[in-house]
Amino acid sequence: MDENGSTVLSAPRCDRRTFLMATAAGVLSIRLAAKAKGLAQTAWAAPEPIGLPPLPYADDALEPVISKATVGFHFGKHHKGYVDNLNKLIAGTDYASMPLERIIAETSGRPEKAGIFNNAAQVWNHTFYWSSMKPHGGGEPPAGLRERLKASFGSVEACKKELHAAGMAVFGSGWVWLVYEAGRLKVATTPNAEVPFLKGAKPLLTIDVWEHAYYLDYQNRRGDYLRAVLDSRIDWGYASKNLEG
Ligand code: MN
Repeated sequence: MDENGSTVLSAPRCDRRTFLMATAAGVLSIRLAAKAKGLAQTAWAAPEPIGLPPLPYADDALEPVISKATVGFHFGKHHKGYVDNLNKLIAGTDYASMPLERIIAETSGRPEKAGIFNNAAQVWNHTFYWSSMKPHGGGEPPAGLRERLKASFGSVEACKKELHAAGMAVFGSGWVWLVYEAGRLKVATTPNAEVPFLKGAKPLLTIDVWEHAYYLDYQNRRGDYLRAVLDSRIDWGYASKNLEG
């Protein structure tokens, strides 16, 4: 070091260059490490939009109980509409990176979030509804479920009767459900887009009783629609799987 301090001045320059080089190397190594762990992509990628799950059968597979035309409008317009609306409403918000169930839970009971809740819950409910039916449904439930239905309702027929009556009693739009709650199988209803699972009831199967679910085929005869679905389209196997799952 000389007296004019040149060494003193150059030392920091040298240190600064070393520092910058070290920093650059550090950033590079952090980037490489992140990339190796797949973090580089997830950190900056846009969240995946909520999808429209495909129907579990062909659009005419529920005929004649539910026509191809009804499935076409119900799945292709209503269900898809809820998916599209939801994705528009959550774009750029924290909800965009949440699973569907969490969006529903976090917006439930909040009037200022009603738009997001209604569309998210309707996406969930409709996906569950399509899975609650199958082309050659109805008939006898699997043995395990049949015993549980007998224990809770007296008989499978009594359960179906209660589902029918509850579905008829929904005023306006809503859903009728078979649920598992507090050790028992129960029939429940929810209005509009409401879901049963936020209050501790586990959904086993559901039937949509909004008019759009049956009006093209049955007009105002909701009872005929419910009876036909319960007799020959309901998928007891799906309910059984949900009960065990
Ligand atoms: Mn519907």
